Amino acid sequence: MKIHEFQAKQIFRQAGIAVPHGIVADAPAAAAAAFDQLQGPLCVVKAQIHAGGRGKGTIAGNPQQHGVQLVRSREEAQTAAANLLGQKLVTLQTGPEGRLVRWVLVEEGSAIARELYLGVAVDRASAGPVLIASSEGGMDIEQVAAKTPERIYRERFRPDAGLQSYQVRKLGWKLGLSGKLLRAAETFMQAVCRTFVRCDCSLLEINPLVVTADEQLLALDAKMTFDDNALVRHPDLAALRDLNEEEPAEVRAAAAGLSYVKLNGTIGCLVNGAGLAMSTMDLIKLHGGEPANFLDVGGGANVEQVTEAFRILVEDSNVRAVLVNIFGGIMRCTTIATALIAAYRTVDFRVPLVVRLEGTEVEQGRRMLAESKLDIIPADDLTDAAKKVVAEVERMKDE
Ligand code: ADP
Ligand code: MG
Repeated sequence: MKIHEFQAKQIFRQAGIAVPHGIVADAPAAAAAAFDQLQGPLCVVKAQIHAGGRGKGTIAGNPQQHGVQLVRSREEAQTAAANLLGQKLVTLQTGPEGRLVRWVLVEEGSAIARELYLGVAVDRASAGPVLIASSEGGMDIEQVAAKTPERIYRERFRPDAGLQSYQVRKLGWKLGLSGKLLRAAETFMQAVCRTFVRCDCSLLEINPLVVTADEQLLALDAKMTFDDNALVRHPDLAALRDLNEEEPAEVRAAAAGLSYVKLNGTIGCLVNGAGLAMSTMDLIKLHGGEPANFLDVGGGANVEQVTEAFRILVEDSNVRAVLVNIFGGIMRCTTIATALIAAYRTVDFRVPLVVRLEGTEVEQGRRMLAESKLDIIPADDLTDAAKKVVAEVERMKDE
């Protein structure tokens, strides 16, 4: 689960991680009032969306307006907010359709001497957290990672013991921090690492972390992503969820207990088991198709879940054909056949449906589908199913 920058900064503030003063606004007049309250003279108006790259991003249909805007008066703050609110911001991370801006953060402008990068992620190799830092922070960190990876430094730390002082000194030396700034970095980095662990984050990113003209460390940007599986332990964090920022079909699917990820292809997939779903998508691609989604109905799918899964698939206007691929292990093929038949009858199916069943009670299951007289294209195995569904998409294109 992701949260907005202003929410992450509230968490930072409580954790003793220095951030600029800021006020959230949902209307231009409120942005102007925020400018007054912050007493200028320089503020930044920042679009709040769950995507980065806002500084270089622009408003759809208004290429002059970026997602992060320096303002020097209440009028400028009001204008920037009016240009952003209710509009779609397109950044490298949003895709061409952009994201609707519902809030802006009006923040004190900082006098920036240097922009650094600081992040914490889960390191797969050590199966623990790792602090990542770079002296080349700012809006081009992806370039730095690609072209000069030697300028990115890593320090693994133990979640219980936290980041050690010697590790801060090592990093501080590489980042060119000394004296008062190095002491500030110790407090800052240790608080960041503690917060990552305490909140069960999967990612925490501060880009830029700035050294100000008066030698302070300040988090100018804040990104936090939480491990969904740990949210049960954090009702306060779970309450920060903004469903507007999430794919509506994914929200619906989660409510029905389905694992669904929307993709850009044309073949809707309904599969039981994540591994089977992955190989189904692989085979579709191997035979020249593109999956429209990943959908795992899980081990105990019932009629309601299969119905909801079908609804989600056929409501996606990109979907030209659907492939159901079920391996009955604990789940019997007869159960899934019953669910498929019932769901098919309630959902308005306008695209071809290819079904591959295998496993426990498969003969009876296939017979039920055949006898149902529904317009289903049966497949014998996975390859056969993938070829048939790709052929259906091709046929639909020609029609
Ligand atoms: P994004 O990463 O989405 O582009 P940031 O919050 O990192 O958004 O802002 C982009 C750039 O805007 C920063 O790299 C920084 O140079 C500048 N900036 C952001 N907040 C402030 C601020 N409070 N004061 C001065 N400059 C800022
Ligand atoms: Mg940033």
